[in-house]
Amino acid sequence: MWNGRRYHSLDSYLKESFGEKLYKLSLDGGMTCPNRDGTKGRGGCIFCSGEGSGDFAAKPCGDTGRQIELAKDSVKNKYSGSRFIAYFQSYTNTYAPVGRLRELFLPVISRDDIAVLDIATRPDCIPPEVLKLIKELADIKPVWVELGLQTSDNDTAARINRCYETEVYDRAVCELHEAGVEVITHMITGLPGERKSDMLKTAHHIAECGSDGIKLQLMHVLRGTNLAEMYERGEFEALSQEEYTDIICDIIAELPESMVVHRLTGDGDREKLVAPRWSLDKRKVLRGIEHELKVRNIVQGCRRTR
Ligand code: SF4
Repeated sequence: MWNGRRYHSLDSYLKESFGEKLYKLSLDGGMTCPNRDGTKGRGGCIFCSGEGSGDFAAKPCGDTGRQIELAKDSVKNKYSGSRFIAYFQSYTNTYAPVGRLRELFLPVISRDDIAVLDIATRPDCIPPEVLKLIKELADIKPVWVELGLQTSDNDTAARINRCYETEVYDRAVCELHEAGVEVITHMITGLPGERKSDMLKTAHHIAECGSDGIKLQLMHVLRGTNLAEMYERGEFEALSQEEYTDIICDIIAELPESMVVHRLTGDGDREKLVAPRWSLDKRKVLRGIEHELKVRNIVQGCRRTR
């Protein structure tokens, strides 16, 4: 158990590693995505709203220092600590010339109030020169790299237009570990055509690759996406809350104890969310998972076989 929780939560990990909870500031580095501009693919991943998963990031104002101050100001009533995680969230945050990335990241990681630099990106967008920069940054302070895997199944990956093979993710995890960086992997449950067994396979894959953390996400169908069109045509059904709870509990049972669970479910944009609408009550979803873990006496890693 971790501070009374049945899974190794981010809060527990932060207290173990930094002695306190750190608040995450979502920043926008003004990036784009190679899966939208034709470099890797066109149209983007079918679930992506066009905001590049950055619907809650600070709006770009061209000055990251100013974004940090604004973001700090907006949380001053709920967070009294003095250290933060600088999270570059929107789009692909290593998709730029290395000189620009250096200018973006170096001033941020050098600030006294930033304890961790957290970079979300695609595993096929970390060329050697960027990896070298990431290693340099990791020599200054902890760097986390978040990779959007979503599924380990290459057929599903093709269906969702991810535009890279799972083997690319496997290699990126190894290279990032060699660079001294912690890897957090994003996984979506409920993707079209996937059964529970496929989702458990993805969780296994992430564990076997040695990812340090996992972000679990329910597949949200957002208005204006290709996924929403498929949904309207009746090509798949969204998960029910009971199914989601059951899948998440089984995933937790099989994750290694050391892996940090950064998230059990995500926030869908209330205005754009088509389905499943039950997910809007996030507290209820989280309470349901905690309850089910207790009823089934599941603790992270309790069913891990390898
Ligand atoms: S890689 Fe990320 S930003 Fe790009 S289309 Fe997919 S989800 Fe959106």
